[in-house]
Amino acid sequence: MPDIRLAPYASNPAVTRGRKVHEDAPLGRSEFQRDRDRIIHSSAFRRLEYKTQVFVNHEGDLFRTRLTHSIEVAQIGRSIARRLMLNEDLVEAISLAHDLGHTPFGHAGQDALNACMKEYGGFEHNLQSLRVVDVLEERYADFDGLNLCFETREGILKHCSPEHAAQLGEVGSRFLTNQRPALEAQIANLSDEIAYNNHDVDDGLRSGLITLEQLGPVRLFSNHLTEVRNIYPALAERRVIHETIRRMINTLVSDVINQTEKNIAAQTLNNVDDVRNAPNLVAFSEPMLALNRELKTFLRLHLYRHYRVMRMSAKAHRIISELFNAFMEDRRLLPPQFLQAAEKEHARSVADYIAGMTDRYAIREHRRIFAVEEI
Ligand code: MG
Repeated sequence: MPDIRLAPYASNPAVTRGRKVHEDAPLGRSEFQRDRDRIIHSSAFRRLEYKTQVFVNHEGDLFRTRLTHSIEVAQIGRSIARRLMLNEDLVEAISLAHDLGHTPFGHAGQDALNACMKEYGGFEHNLQSLRVVDVLEERYADFDGLNLCFETREGILKHCSPEHAAQLGEVGSRFLTNQRPALEAQIANLSDEIAYNNHDVDDGLRSGLITLEQLGPVRLFSNHLTEVRNIYPALAERRVIHETIRRMINTLVSDVINQTEKNIAAQTLNNVDDVRNAPNLVAFSEPMLALNRELKTFLRLHLYRHYRVMRMSAKAHRIISELFNAFMEDRRLLPPQFLQAAEKEHARSVADYIAGMTDRYAIREHRRIFAVEEI
């Protein structure tokens, strides 16, 4: 489907490494477009709407959820891919799927579930995203999961321990042979970071947990803020913030494009295999890396560790651990579809059940199990 200009080292859907279960080529759309469509139609994708990014879903209607976060990642990723003549559809598919395995309550939920699963192989949301598209979605007549292309699955699996990699077969092999994924996967990865650093500033300011004054020493923010205030001295604060953030995103995206073009030019890349054997090529310039790091450090200290965020994290920890322990102690409390699997691997089945929950479902389930007045 030569509808877009692709660089020779772009991922080409016409020569995909294919799907686990063979399927005929789709009509009227590319293999990667089909992957993207399957991801959008999955139930795990719809659940992202009710999963926390930083702020728990019921805290406000305007904060990012995992769904809007994933859409922002896809938007940023596609912009970068198009400029670099890489495959936009693949970047979009990976971006939309990258958080499908996330637990309720953001990173607090993932940490809690990982601690619960310590003796049973741990829990990692990134591996779980792959598990969702490979195994857990039950929609198609001919296979479990979504039967996605290798390239999409490779992009979803961002990082992986050697032990896990050895169990995952082809998709895990690059972690054992020290290879990189395709450029489209590298773009989705960096777009994730650009998206959350920026929207967390926006949500942080909106919530009042951080202030413009606090952001003063963060140069990436304050340089753009000064610029906006100079050009628009009378602009309302909410618009000043948005104008500043859109300029930050623009600066970061332009920097990635410029630096990546240089990195690509310094290599001899004739195909995707050359990309896999090259170092990581999608990257910020050194100066931008430093500015970006400054922003990340600020968010960690002032937003992610804010006492109000910590309170929610502590609550999330309690809910997840108590649910896990209850299901481990008495497997008859599990819904029947998880109970069947429980015969073989009970702890993993409990983790699958909990990881699939939305924030509000987890809260309700906790109430149903522990509150005497509920049934
Ligand atoms: Mg993400």
